[in-house]
Amino acid sequence: MVYSLITFLRYNISTGSPFRYCMKRLFWLFLIAFVLGCGHHRGQLGAGSTLNNSDFDSPPRPRPNYTATERRFLALGLVDIQTLDPSIQVHLVYATPDNYIGEVLYSDFHHAFFLPALAQKIVAAQQALRSERPDLSLLILDAVRPLSVQYRMFHLVQGTPNNIYVANPLHGPGLHNYGAAVDVTLVDSSGNPLPMGSGFDHFGPESHTTAESRLLSSGAITRQELDNRKLLRRIMKQQGLQPLNSEWWHFNLMSRAQARQRLRVVE
Ligand SMILES: [Zn+2]
Repeated sequence: MVYSLITFLRYNISTGSPFRYCMKRLFWLFLIAFVLGCGHHRGQLGAGSTLNNSDFDSPPRPRPNYTATERRFLALGLVDIQTLDPSIQVHLVYATPDNYIGEVLYSDFHHAFFLPALAQKIVAAQQALRSERPDLSLLILDAVRPLSVQYRMFHLVQGTPNNIYVANPLHGPGLHNYGAAVDVTLVDSSGNPLPMGSGFDHFGPESHTTAESRLLSSGAITRQELDNRKLLRRIMKQQGLQPLNSEWWHFNLMSRAQARQRLRVVE
């Protein structure tokens, strides 16, 4: 269609029709618009830290009932993943007391917000998953985590056996603190999480992704659990998201060094 339009415009210009002047301007305007359009599209496919909400084909529609914290996330340019794709399941574990700390840490939000560039990749991962396995869905377990919550987490585990598992925020923010990481698993059509060999935030070798064949041969995880992990990892890696060695559920949009250079921490 684009080629036909260019041919049509070139023909009218070259034949010297009464509209020649007008058509010539139209031709150049069209070419400029087309080139700019291509550049814009390439931007979406890049690292994407500069993406914002208006870059989406169908811009997200914020819900009317956001909390003060969720409105702050929106003002910072983050996007609620379910406004882009309502089929993606969300259960923020830290918005409940059912987590390894045993306290509600997200008292003022329970929707999953991400940088638009990450949200776009998660939506693409969900689409790829659904086309391969229509009976499955992604389930988001953690999204943006304000730095203030990271401090509270660190404070709560100090003096407990869990203190080695929480990153000290004084050593610098983590990717969750930028909205540039996601904790995610797979659920079936009834919303039941698929077995993955260890629970979310289980901090032990069973959660590691580096020695899974040994975990399998020792019986620490089953073949089915390993296959489920591999499916999740393949779907996420296909979108360029980077898995973590120690947590099968965690994927990064970029490195911490890149985040430090390009992104703003959510306080
Ligand atoms: Zn994580």
